[in-house]
Amino acid sequence: MVAYDQPGMAGARVADCLDVHIDDLATLIEYVGAAPGEIAGGSVRFDEGAELDTSQVDDQRGRGGIGGRVAVGSGGVGIIGLLIYFLLSQPGSGPGSPLPNGLPGLGAGQSADDTQISQSCQHGRDANTALDCEVVAVVNSLDTYWTGTLTRSGRTYRKPRITFFNGGVNSGCGSASSEAGPFYCPADRESYVDLHFFQELEQRFGAKGGPFARAYVIAHEYGHHVQNLLGTSSRVQAGDSGPTSGSVRLELQADCYAGVWAKNASTTPGSSGRPLITDVTDADVSAALDTASRIGDDYIQSELGGGRVNESQFTHGTSAQRQKWYLTGYQSGDLTSCNTFDTGELG
Ligand SMILES: [Zn+2]
Repeated sequence: MVAYDQPGMAGARVADCLDVHIDDLATLIEYVGAAPGEIAGGSVRFDEGAELDTSQVDDQRGRGGIGGRVAVGSGGVGIIGLLIYFLLSQPGSGPGSPLPNGLPGLGAGQSADDTQISQSCQHGRDANTALDCEVVAVVNSLDTYWTGTLTRSGRTYRKPRITFFNGGVNSGCGSASSEAGPFYCPADRESYVDLHFFQELEQRFGAKGGPFARAYVIAHEYGHHVQNLLGTSSRVQAGDSGPTSGSVRLELQADCYAGVWAKNASTTPGSSGRPLITDVTDADVSAALDTASRIGDDYIQSELGGGRVNESQFTHGTSAQRQKWYLTGYQSGDLTSCNTFDTGELG
């Protein structure tokens, strides 16, 4: 059972539900999502006066796409046998159309470079109004959190870089198109994201969206970076698939790491010393869980692909598993809870 009061209990937080069991997951998800429409997609805000750091961002949105899908071990610099960790790896999610008006920096064909983003994304208030600045703020929070966490455990966190692109991009792991979704390349320790993907999530996958749902996507990729630094990534063979495969375990652990950061996000300081993310509500966590439910292997195969669920092709885990492990990380706030490799209960 879950030790919380009935839905409708104003002010209750997921963090209070520390003894949730997996059997209660559906109930909990329903619970934290009990206020749809009130705060559609969540309401995470960033400290208005905090300074943002764009130094880790490579803004390639103005360079145009190169087309083609990611070719592991070919293209690009021709590195053989590398893994690329996608949030998605399912075909058919085409490049997004321009984002709605009112999201600066993302118009179709609009160019940007690192100078521009450093000028447009200077403070937390910019992250509250512009999508690219929002991602910058999330990246800043992730870097600060993981630097502190790994340092305390005697390890060194090296900040990854993140590339914004439109259409296609060359990475240290080969070339990629937006169809692949956001991904992390261990070879160059860089995350790659076409920001139009967030629109795809809402329009094609039917996700609620919102800042914390988008933050989950970025935090998942940074989870892969942490795995890379800790040496976990090397436990997985390229092309591995199946419901208990190393690939699934790696992806679910990245989801769990995203949850760990989420738990600590509202206490991770920005440049001002105050938390960069000022509050995380139930609706925010609900939006992140909702996104996790839209990108499980089973959901994508059956709901988006229109086919039957084929477990042998699983690489990321089911929707329920992705939710479970995000929530596991969120509830514990501790990366040691994310041992997906040594558990017989992936969910
Ligand atoms: Zn992934």
